[in-house]
Amino acid sequence: MSEKLVATKSEKLTAVKGMNDILPPDSARWEWLEDQVRSVMGLYAYRNIRTPIVEPTALFVRGTGESTDIVEKEMYSFEDKLNGEQLSLRPESTPGVVRAAIEHNLTYDGGKRLYYMGPMFRHERPQRGRYRQFYQLGAEALGFAGPEVDAEMMLLVHHLFARLGLRNVRIEINSLGRPAERQAHRVALIAYFEQHFELLDTEAQRRLHSNPLRILDTKNPTMQALVQDAPQLLNYLGDASLQHFDSVKRLLSACAVKWTVNPRLVRGLDYYSHTVFEFLTDELGAQGALCGGGRYDGLFELLGGKPTPAVGWGMGLERVLELIQEQGQTRTAPAPDVYAVIPDADALPMTIQVLNALRAAGISVQMHASLDQNTGSMKSQFKKADASGARYALIFGNDELAQNAVTVKPLRDGGGAQVTRSLTDIAAWASTLQSHT
Ligand code: ATP
Ligand code: MG
Repeated sequence: MSEKLVATKSEKLTAVKGMNDILPPDSARWEWLEDQVRSVMGLYAYRNIRTPIVEPTALFVRGTGESTDIVEKEMYSFEDKLNGEQLSLRPESTPGVVRAAIEHNLTYDGGKRLYYMGPMFRHERPQRGRYRQFYQLGAEALGFAGPEVDAEMMLLVHHLFARLGLRNVRIEINSLGRPAERQAHRVALIAYFEQHFELLDTEAQRRLHSNPLRILDTKNPTMQALVQDAPQLLNYLGDASLQHFDSVKRLLSACAVKWTVNPRLVRGLDYYSHTVFEFLTDELGAQGALCGGGRYDGLFELLGGKPTPAVGWGMGLERVLELIQEQGQTRTAPAPDVYAVIPDADALPMTIQVLNALRAAGISVQMHASLDQNTGSMKSQFKKADASGARYALIFGNDELAQNAVTVKPLRDGGGAQVTRSLTDIAAWASTLQSHT
């Protein structure tokens, strides 16, 4: 082990900058969100896919695009110490999902609708809504060419946001057309920017020939006017592309889902074609993009697969949770049904059996546990019982246990009077409690 790794042994270690611990009770909001996601994915018949967090760097260079911000400056890449392979922590999941689809021939018998949830890694400057490890939910519909799946993708996100109680989220859409149409637009775009070369910032000057579309995406305020007047891709689309785009819009409207066309929406990734979209909010400051996606009919071939149409999106879950909070939704922290107060350690063998029987009956139980060798005074145990949020304390006193009974003490208003109950009917009593599980 290197000197650097061991020399500071006793120093307190902290999480990597931009990477967050998710702690209780906050983690309960994450679990709730994940439950809603699974439920809505089920409604749309999307199935879960789990791909590795580490992939060959080449997958992202090819799949995400060599001249994107992600590949140029945001990837955590390293060499496998043992075999020298170039690897990266995934900055997004679409290339991994497509790799897996090709590797396992997932679309051989028709289309596949998939979703994933998990951590992504990008070396960005940490700020509100922007982290170096963040969680993305995403969906990919592989093997479907028609506009109805583009619409379904957005309807799914819309449905999920409604389920989460989010308000004031707008949908922007655009079409990037087909590669030949993009090519014609690209030529016009380069010519336009070359005419105004001195107005481009250094980043844009550098990108002019590698990724001019990306210049339209700029956040630099001094370039907004220039970008505003740039040739619009929509004017280069042929009939088939326009028809595809119109169908998507009509299907959304048929479901009363509102959208606006943003002709400058190009998305940062190289692989999109036809429909692209973003779900945005004005309530999270600069990081207002909640979800972005689009059609990527060319990606399978780019990664060595058979031509396969596909469409997908990715959503930042931190931003979604932040918006939920921003809009004033609160969620009560989870609490056990009962807290077991154990005045004397002698009672433990009997108590622990009863508690297990309660759990088997679906009752959530928090057992008092001592912080040192002593069981703790009754006063301190009741204090903990109260803090746990449980509705009842069960007191496993030696006297009660000797008579095969336990004392039930209500901890909240409306819990009735304190009573002693026989152990034979304690499970039946407890099953009348509404369980949290
Ligand atoms: P942005 O313009 O905010 O950088 P992006 O275009 O890079 O977003 P995508 O690659 O489309 O983002 O990822 C989909 C979603 O993931 C975004 O809409 C956003 O909600 C979320 N996201 C992206 N990068 C981060 C990050 N560093 N931290 C937290 N969430 C992120
Ligand atoms: Mg980004």
